[in-house]
Amino acid sequence: MARFDRKRVVVTGGAGFLGSHLCRVLLEDGCEVVCVDNYYTGNKGNIVDLLGNPYFELMRHDVTFPLYVEVDEIYNLACPASPIHYQHDPVQTLKTSVHGAINMLGLAKRIGAKIMQASTSEVYGDPEVHPQTEDYWGHVNPKGTRSCYDEGKRCAETLFFDYRRQHGLVIKVARIFNTYGPNMLPGDGRVVSNFIVKALRNEPVTVYGDGSQTRSFCYVDDLIRGFKILMDDTPDEFSGPVNLGNPMEFTILELAEKVIEMTGSRSRIEFLDLPSDDPRQRQPDISLAKRELGWQPETTLEQGLVKTIEYFRKMLEQ
Ligand code: NAD
Ligand code: UDP
Ligand code: UDP
Repeated sequence: MARFDRKRVVVTGGAGFLGSHLCRVLLEDGCEVVCVDNYYTGNKGNIVDLLGNPYFELMRHDVTFPLYVEVDEIYNLACPASPIHYQHDPVQTLKTSVHGAINMLGLAKRIGAKIMQASTSEVYGDPEVHPQTEDYWGHVNPKGTRSCYDEGKRCAETLFFDYRRQHGLVIKVARIFNTYGPNMLPGDGRVVSNFIVKALRNEPVTVYGDGSQTRSFCYVDDLIRGFKILMDDTPDEFSGPVNLGNPMEFTILELAEKVIEMTGSRSRIEFLDLPSDDPRQRQPDISLAKRELGWQPETTLEQGLVKTIEYFRKMLEQ
């Protein structure tokens, strides 16, 4: 691609887990990338190797404040994603989802940019429909400890669809299911990173509840491939929401046993209290993604865990 043809892309939350992978893939594709992050849960370490690239620009900025840049596309990922982080300052979490969406949509509207929202399976809450399809409206507690995240993301989706209806924006909404891989923070509290780090340290692996609750885990490379197809290869009329996740469902206890086995750990399993509103079951129905995007995950849990364990092993050795 000739230099003057480079697509200019904003990635909010670009120093976080998913954002850092996305920035890297966009640069490899020949885009100019503006990474916008306030380092709330992200860190420079995730993108330090990109800083020498002249087509990569890092902006310390909080998306709850207006942003004036000139770009072609916006990926809106800014928002803490781990329960311990999003519950630390729930008001800020809501502001990030809601005010952040308004600002990024206002930006997209002014410059005519295409915009993608990183929504979440949490919009389904503790689902009564299994597996979850996009037409399910969800079962969400509006006033619990997870609500700041779930309702913030639901409101952001509403804003995206209203900006499309009212202002004709081209929007893409991805409902992301549990995703894991390198660049997760070792202490961020999400189950895959927690289990791997504890197993590598031979500390007790903490299963909340009896471990019979289920999740479906998608490896990060598969997810980012899905983002790109959604943004680049679907017609403007296709907005989603579309589920992106791996439909292979595991109990949390199965995950704990698998991680202990794969790390060769001496850890035992410790059962702790289940947090409030913890969803019992979660599994995406990805028929729509298969049909409209021609996308499905290619990485098995074992393959993804090998790479993620390797990442954390190196990190803990340093
Ligand atoms: P993460 O916490 O690693 O990354 C979020 C990034 O957003 C961080 O770099 C953080 O510093 C930044 N951020 C937070 N508030 C901000 C603000 N006000 N202004 C600017 N930057 C801000 O989380 P992640 O796993 O990379 O998640 C990225 C996005 O994907 C989030 O919107 C999350 O809700 C969504 N998502 C992730 C998953 C998953 O399993 N990883 C699942 C569903 C949805
Ligand atoms: N905004 C922004 N960058 C822009 C344009 C708008 O951050 O380039 C923000 C601005 O704070 C505004 C919000 O987006 O309040 C919503 O913009 P919109 O044009 O939809 O609404 P209005 O400006 O009328 O409130
Ligand atoms: N979990 C667990 N031990 C941990 C961390 C999480 O048993 O050390 C459980 C948690 O209660 C939930 C599941 O693992 O049932 C997934 O948790 P995570 O925070 O990764 O994602 P979410 O609940 O948002 O899907």
